[in-house]
Amino acid sequence: MTLREQVLAQFIDIPNFPKEGILFKDILPLFQNPEIVKKVSQVLADNIRGLNPTALVGIESRGFLLGPLLAQELQVPFVCIRKKGKLPGKTIGLSYELEYGHAEIEMQIGSITADDRVIVHDDVLATGGTAIAAEALINKTGAQVIGHVFLLDIKSLGGKKKIENENQTVHTFVTV
Ligand code: AMP
Repeated sequence: MTLREQVLAQFIDIPNFPKEGILFKDILPLFQNPEIVKKVSQVLADNIRGLNPTALVGIESRGFLLGPLLAQELQVPFVCIRKKGKLPGKTIGLSYELEYGHAEIEMQIGSITADDRVIVHDDVLATGGTAIAAEALINKTGAQVIGHVFLLDIKSLGGKKKIENENQTVHTFVTV
């Protein structure tokens, strides 16, 4: 089995979670296999190393699983984007529209500075709305987003095209 096949074999499809009509991809079983996780973070880090990032930002909450490992491989700081109200100290925030309602995300002031070259990471790329909002928040600090990296792309939901239309590079380990 290739590494990609090994990774795909770890994911479990959960129909109608968290709502009716959603086919949720549970990626957590992958993290019960430290050797596979290590190889995945090495391959993904090798794919983005050439962009010369100075920071890697993970999106709450499953962007905090592989994110620190990628940052470690790249030898750059790891920074968290969290939902509003979760981070202590001074924060910078952004609210954005979802299909139903809106959401707000925050980052600690000073965690990213204007001269940073940032890679944004999340576990699953679905519609791309969250990643694009994260990029807008990072841009508010004056820093530049130089790419997005995901473990899994759900192609039918069109997120990759949406992010690429904003002239961004998207790296994903596996696509379904
Ligand atoms: P997006 O639609 O790209 O903004 O997805 C937002 C977030 O929801 C991402 O952080 C994903 O982790 C999560 N997500 C969306 N759809 C799924 C799905 N079908 N399975 C697992 N996670 C999902």
